[in-house]
Amino acid sequence: MKPLIHSLSRLELETECQALGLPSYRAGQIWAWLYARRVADWAEMKNLPAALRAGLASKFDLAGVAPLKTEGDPVGTRKILAGLRDGECVEEVLIPARDRKTVCVSSQVGCRFACVFCASGKGGYVRNLETGEIIGQLLLAWREYGDRPSNIVFMGMGEPFDNYDAVLKAVRIINDAEGLNIGARHITISTSGVVPGIARLADEGIQVELSVSLHAPDNPLRSKLMPVNRKYPLEALMAACTRYAAATRRIITFEYTLIRGVNDTRQHAAALASLLRSIPGRVNLIPLSPVDGFEGQAPDPGTAPLFIEVLGRAGINATTRISKGTNIDAACGQLRLRSRKTL
Ligand code: SF4
Repeated sequence: MKPLIHSLSRLELETECQALGLPSYRAGQIWAWLYARRVADWAEMKNLPAALRAGLASKFDLAGVAPLKTEGDPVGTRKILAGLRDGECVEEVLIPARDRKTVCVSSQVGCRFACVFCASGKGGYVRNLETGEIIGQLLLAWREYGDRPSNIVFMGMGEPFDNYDAVLKAVRIINDAEGLNIGARHITISTSGVVPGIARLADEGIQVELSVSLHAPDNPLRSKLMPVNRKYPLEALMAACTRYAAATRRIITFEYTLIRGVNDTRQHAAALASLLRSIPGRVNLIPLSPVDGFEGQAPDPGTAPLFIEVLGRAGINATTRISKGTNIDAACGQLRLRSRKTL
């Protein structure tokens, strides 16, 4: 398989052009066709000589992602099963709202982290996505929306910090003023708590949003729900978050899925407040959506307000995020898992 041209950074594209003996302006022209015009066919790169277009086509693939299936509201929240060149597939979710056009993208095919409430973890890890496959999901979303997506969240299949280099390269292309030109503060990377990834991101000098999936306020429960906690327990995670917040002066979002009878009592809320008391952050409470293969249930309606009250008294801002895609298997990986069963 040829490499994807969208996997090249601007600098790598310039180096490629130099190696081909091309004048330096050619890299800028190609970059503009890829990102300003977002062409889907080499033939559309009209200001390039035919021989150069043919040379590029023999070396690189232009399209690495194709829509296989869409579920949900055709003009509202919808999930796209995106096919890759090797026959694998990933999911992305489009979440339009009055003032934003959000895209939730995947960073891996499957996931090795096996969080108990997540469909992606159930299928196991298959492989990392290339940068070009991450960018491909955004180009697909751009076509679907008929407009530039306003917000990108790495909350689809996979753990972004388990594929750090490809994800960060994609983030820089997404953020590049001559790339997809989406502001860093409109890009969110969500991690299950991979401490070295948080440490690296703190030193990148890029103002993206960091979201940490917490889901439990103590080590025994968190290790049960999220095996990553056995490697990076809460003490290490909180230390990394504290350092990240200090280095970037950014507020961290902590995700907390409420699961009835598991992590949703007043004591859990108090323990969460105590854990987060000294870290600049906010909490997103997510009532559990049904997941195939996980018996957990959605919390009582009064649970989220209780957490908001307890956290609020500790000076921690908390809000409830209602999953907009319960009816389209919103938990990451469910559409892919179901497709694998039926395809
Ligand atoms: S929640 Fe994220 S890290 Fe956990 S299994 Fe699912 S995709 Fe992987």
